[in-house]
Amino acid sequence: ETPIEYLKGVGPNRGTLLRKELGIHKYGHLLNFFPNRYIDRTRYYKINELQNNIAEVQIIGKIINVKTVEFGKNQKRLVATFVDDTGQMELVWFQGHKWIRESLKLNEICVIFGKCTSFGNTFNMAHPEIELMTEHQQSLRSAMQPVYPSTETLANRGISNRVINKMMQQLFVETQAKFSETLPDYLIAELKLIPKNAALFNIHFPKSAEALAKAQFRLKFEELFYIQLQLITKNLIRKHKIKGHPFTKVGDYFNNFYQNHLPFELTNAQKRVIKEIRIDMGSNAQMNRLLQGDVGSGKTIVALMSMLIALDNGFQSCLMAPTEILANQHFNGLSELAKELNINIKILTGSTKTAARKIIHEELENGSLHILIGTHALLEDKVKFQNLGLAVIDEQHRFGVEQRSKLWKKSNPNPSDEGEHIPPHVLVMTATPIPRTLAMSLYGDLDISVIDELPPGRKPIQTVHRFDSNRLKVWKFIRDEIAIGRQIYIVYPLIEESKTMDLKDLMDGYESISRDFPLPQYAISILHGKMKPADKDAEMKRFAEGKTNIMVATTVIEVGVNIPNASVMIIESAERFGLSQLHQLRGRVGRGADQSYCILMTSHKLSADSKTRMETMVKTTDGFEIAEVDLKLRGPGDLMGTQQSGVLNLQIADIVRDRDILQLARNYALKILKDDAPMQKPENAVLRATYIELTKKKNIWNYIS
Ligand code: ADP
Ligand code: MG
Repeated sequence: ETPIEYLKGVGPNRGTLLRKELGIHKYGHLLNFFPNRYIDRTRYYKINELQNNIAEVQIIGKIINVKTVEFGKNQKRLVATFVDDTGQMELVWFQGHKWIRESLKLNEICVIFGKCTSFGNTFNMAHPEIELMTEHQQSLRSAMQPVYPSTETLANRGISNRVINKMMQQLFVETQAKFSETLPDYLIAELKLIPKNAALFNIHFPKSAEALAKAQFRLKFEELFYIQLQLITKNLIRKHKIKGHPFTKVGDYFNNFYQNHLPFELTNAQKRVIKEIRIDMGSNAQMNRLLQGDVGSGKTIVALMSMLIALDNGFQSCLMAPTEILANQHFNGLSELAKELNINIKILTGSTKTAARKIIHEELENGSLHILIGTHALLEDKVKFQNLGLAVIDEQHRFGVEQRSKLWKKSNPNPSDEGEHIPPHVLVMTATPIPRTLAMSLYGDLDISVIDELPPGRKPIQTVHRFDSNRLKVWKFIRDEIAIGRQIYIVYPLIEESKTMDLKDLMDGYESISRDFPLPQYAISILHGKMKPADKDAEMKRFAEGKTNIMVATTVIEVGVNIPNASVMIIESAERFGLSQLHQLRGRVGRGADQSYCILMTSHKLSADSKTRMETMVKTTDGFEIAEVDLKLRGPGDLMGTQQSGVLNLQIADIVRDRDILQLARNYALKILKDDAPMQKPENAVLRATYIELTKKKNIWNYIS
């Protein structure tokens, strides 16, 4: 807890800098300020070995002269000539001339360290670290030289990596490295972790690569473990606090459907997930569950069977979808599945007529409507249920948290609950695969079910990447597919439906396709967000009934649309789509028995990231694998659509690279809390103390959920 300026060699000025630039206020902050990489300092370069763009190098030699060079208006830089027995180079400073000039020693053997760039025939090193050979030999050296994160201001004000390193040494001297252990003995023994002070020592002064690896493992585990402990504890508290309707029965509706009307054998994954949901809804706590399943994995029937459980317990359900097309499709699909069950299912969207609407409102309030399917229209104030027991939300990424919470208040207070408001169980279904690692960190307080198995008999979609210059061949392929009775999607990027520029691309595309595939031989549908809902439905219907061969569309067809006879997906300007969107679009085909194809069209000019995206799509159809690549390309904050800086603020662990450690940490946190949720057993005293200390300081996980 000692303020950082008291550390020998820091003082008030450097103290202010450390606070402002790095958030280091106290000794403890410095101790936990970890290097972000390590450099091999056993290797010394010669000047004639230098090349452009190699990482930092160190060179032994001497400075033979120093001068100030003027350039531009009133701009100066300090330039020193540095030589070794193979040649000479320049050292350059743009700032801090006075004290640097004073500190430079001419003609003494020293070691310089930094990044080199060539300028004409000479190499130069800007703002190098310089150490006299005598000092260099004395200071702690190992194969692994830590490099700490820095800022420009720090570098310019003379707080170099070497200075940080010295402070760290001083810190270990002053404190005698007496750092208390922060994990319980049994965990340390079981996982063969090194003690805390050994870990801290080796992270800053690694004796060997092996010692460093052990230190990193121990500290990463600890960081992830305490985060998980916090998330899981929150989840337990929530379950304790938020009451739910206990659905204790599995009754006639469910059993009748299961025994007599299942259209196919459920996959094992579907069975497992239904069981998880049933158990969860059967408890006294409100269910708040995320159901992940790749496109086509069969989430709809899971939703229906969950709703039947609600019905068996005397409760209504609703299913909310992001678009009207999708709501319609769900309505048709569910009505078909449930047609023998004698239940009342209705649909409510923006285009529902007033008369029908009135009936729905009435039936909802008197309880005779069992399942209501719809769009955002479900959130309108007029929509009131008698007893909403389960709200299913499809394609979660289209709805915000606020909208979800609105659903909570849809039921009238139940008289038997003495006016207490009990929210419905919530099941959020998404086909946007959230990488397990990220889901675990972000939704650690939400329960997750995963359908990780596709129904049997699906043929994997073949994906290829073609350049615009190959369009003729692609068109020929389309003609061949149409000739054998298949249907084709051609999708244009229309990221925001309002962008007129993109709409023009789509219209131009439509016109040229109409020319290449003329009537009466070919019929073409078009679909975009600017069309009236009725027109959209009509076009969709024509295509679904096989009256048109090609559907030219924007991403409005991205989610959920299910037309089994469509077997080719062509994505125009594919480089403009993100990976998860490409994956969603591809999921529109491969729904029938025929071999399906996805063709990614791009121009020849592709950025490195775009290339990776195309290659990933061609290589795999596994949504989770794709999501992991997406996460690597974009970083977790971006993937979630907002700055989830908390996730990026991890001190040492990395949720992508260290996913195995994350899993391990989560498993241990679960196990320990299951056994001792309040952390009151004597062996968990360290755990409790550290936990309290950490949550006092930083509660960054609060906002999640
Ligand atoms: P999604 O998870 O993308 O919403 P759907 O629920 O729309 O997937 O299911 C995709 C298709 O797979 C539907 O035609 C559905 O009838 C079918 N299906 C779902 N589960 C099974 C299963 N266990 N066996 C065979 N077909 C299934
Ligand atoms: Mg679906």
